[in-house]
Parts: sequence; C-alpha cells; structure tokens
Amino acid sequence: IPTIGVLALQGDVREHVHALEAGGARAVGVRRPAELAAVDGLVLPGGESTTIDKLLRIFELRDLVRERIADGMPVYGSCAGMILLADRVLGGTSDQETLGGLDVTVRRNAFGRQVDSFETTLDVRGVDGGPVPATFIRAPWIEEAGADVEVLAAIPDDAPGAAAGRIVAVRQGALLATSFHPEITGDSRVHELFVTMVKE
Ligand code: GLN
Repeated sequence: IPTIGVLALQGDVREHVHALEAGGARAVGVRRPAELAAVDGLVLPGGESTTIDKLLRIFELRDLVRERIADGMPVYGSCAGMILLADRVLGGTSDQETLGGLDVTVRRNAFGRQVDSFETTLDVRGVDGGPVPATFIRAPWIEEAGADVEVLAAIPDDAPGAAAGRIVAVRQGALLATSFHPEITGDSRVHELFVTMVKE
C-alpha cells in the first residue's frame, strides 16, 4: 500500500490523514525534507495559502516539493492546496507565489467571505457511487483551465449568482485539486481516487 504524506505545516492535516487511511493508504505528516523524500504522494491541505507558502520556505520544503512535482509525484491539493498547485492566482496579495504545476487560473475566496461557506453535493468524474458531499470554506474556484486539464466537477449551471458553472475539481496528469474539502465529510471517495492515482 502506498505511503502518502500530508503537508503538516498548517491546515486540516488530521482530517486528511484519516481520509487517506480510509481510502487505503498509509498516511504520514510531512514537515521535514527527509519525510518528504519517503512518501509516494503528497496532500496539500486546506488552510491559508499565503501562510502555507511562507512556512514551506521557512521549513525549506518549497523547492523540494516543486522538484517532486516536476518529477511526477502525485499531489492532491484541497482548497488552499489547490491554490498552491495553480500556475496563476487572482485575488491574492500581488506578490503571492505558488508551487505551480497545474495549468489553471484560480480565484481566491471566490465564493465570498467566511459566512458564505456552504455544503453541497457534486458529481465528480472518476468517483463512482453518486454525488460527493462537498464543503466549501472561503474556497477558490478555477476561472481558466488549460487544454491538458481535465475538469472533474463544476457548480451546476443553474446555481444562483456568479458561482454557476464554475470549475471546482480538476486533474492534470498526477495532480488533483478540489476547491472543496472532502476530508471533513466522512466520505473518502475523493481520497480513494487519489490513492489510485498514487498506485498508478
Ligand atoms: N481562503 C484560503 C486561501 O486563500 C483557502 C481556504 C481554505 O483552504 N479553506 O488560502
């Protein structure tokens, strides 16, 4: 069974560890270069993308994670993790840098403020067994996706407001990203999908 790390600098690490274990992986927190070197895949949890970026530099993991991404290590980013994987960010601080790898433009806090956080269910391509519960917490959405990016889920076109039709889950090669947090719903099917990607 694969060993999957959860970047454990900030954010909801424990929830991802539990969801990965439910999804069939061995899950470990990653805080040091040696821990990163020992994993077959990595989850970038939700939290605050600017803070996680700062901590990645302080813990001297940033360049190493970028190298592993370039080498094809599977990475799953949820919410702030999706922002970190995106090549382009809107609505961030003007100097916000990301790890990159995913040919998308994300908009931070796209759905509004904390009070606009919400739960719904979404059909996710590659996930069988019906719609997936999805919790959005000051979530980003994807405004533009490159030709090689596979859209796995979007907000329904008939949803109210500017969110209608927005892309909220994607895959590009070994990279998976969701705007929402499946790890806090008790449904581990998105993590199972990622475990399958790591096994490939
Ligand atoms: N708003 C956060 C950010 O921009 C993401 C929120 C989350 O991960 N739940 O990084």
